[in-house]
Amino acid sequence: MPVTQTQGIAPAIRLENVRYAIRDLALVAEQVMAKGHKVLPLNVGDPNLFDFETPPHLIEAVHQAMRDGKNGYAPSAGVPEALDALRGEAARKGISSLQDVFVTSGASESVDICLTSLLNPGDNILTPCPDYPLYSAVLAKLGIGLNTYYLNEADGWQPELEDIQRKITPRTRGIVLINPNNPTGSVCSRAMLEQIAELARRHNLIIFSDEIYDKLMIDDDECISMAAVAPDVPTVTLGGMSKNFLAPGWRLGWSMVSGDPAMVKPYLAGVHKLLRSRLSANHPEQYAIKIALEGSQDHLIAVRQKLKSRRDITMDRCNSIPHISCVSPRGAFYAYPKLDIAEDDEVFVKELILQKHVMVVHGSGFGQKPGTKHFRIVFLPDEATLSKAYDAIEEFVRERYR
Ligand code: PLP
Repeated sequence: MPVTQTQGIAPAIRLENVRYAIRDLALVAEQVMAKGHKVLPLNVGDPNLFDFETPPHLIEAVHQAMRDGKNGYAPSAGVPEALDALRGEAARKGISSLQDVFVTSGASESVDICLTSLLNPGDNILTPCPDYPLYSAVLAKLGIGLNTYYLNEADGWQPELEDIQRKITPRTRGIVLINPNNPTGSVCSRAMLEQIAELARRHNLIIFSDEIYDKLMIDDDECISMAAVAPDVPTVTLGGMSKNFLAPGWRLGWSMVSGDPAMVKPYLAGVHKLLRSRLSANHPEQYAIKIALEGSQDHLIAVRQKLKSRRDITMDRCNSIPHISCVSPRGAFYAYPKLDIAEDDEVFVKELILQKHVMVVHGSGFGQKPGTKHFRIVFLPDEATLSKAYDAIEEFVRERYR
């Protein structure tokens, strides 16, 4: 008798805590599309799905690099030209105590490598709630329990300092900050950054400041970099090509590590071990970094204009539909409206897809204070598409929650 396997291959139990609501909802949308309907996608933060295009001079730089034979592995930390450009960018961001820069396959890989290099079993790191779910997914992969701090909706979604303070334990190793924020679009004030830095000093913590949206400020104000405010505090500032430079498919990101050199040196040795073990980030794309950071930034003018107009429509509509209210986003392209309804926000979102063919993501997919309900809107689609989507949401709310 031939031997056959009888048991399915079970995934690791650690993955039970991995949630990626953004992509999970796709299954519901598929049902709707299978019936021949078009779904309005206000759910995925990919500018290239809408009327945003990668600047041609960046595409040309990558093309040229491929033609120049830059198709082998790159140095593990990144090509010298890109590293040089990142040092310049750190200086422009006001980071005076830079110790290291390295290039990764998306900021996502920086998050993975930086957290993996830091945490031992039993350690924890403070992550925001709501958060961008990659952080909790990487922590789940590492078998590290979540320790989240709240963002305060009543304070424009600024971090709740007392909550951070309360949740620091002897095993807390760091604090993650997402600034400008996904999913709320909030931007940290200087005073807030200073207070968080002070907590890091007192408790010997490293700060991971995810600033991947730092050039997408909507109202012409400035995104202040945590590392500029606290040059002495060990800080990893994350960035990349996906959002500011409209090239998410290139999978290219980076980290800038700053702080007291004696404090960060041992950690950096660990990071570089992992950078070497995964060989390198995508190679030819790295030749766009210098031209992106030092060349024309003209595309950003049009991008910010579009974001402002789309944010304004989003605010007008979200604050006029019954049961919905929203803090105005100041950066990035997300809004996180509050729902004043009795049922779960996941039911709201699924029914909205099924009945009105509009796709947003439920707040419970990002985390929120118990008892509160939200959904995340990506306001990248053009004004006409957004208006159509908000008409549909309004109709849905008026029908369902009279
Ligand atoms: N960090 C934040 C806050 C994000 O919103 C995203 C993507 O949406 C990422 C990191 C991932 O960036 P990358 O495409 O460079 O991996």
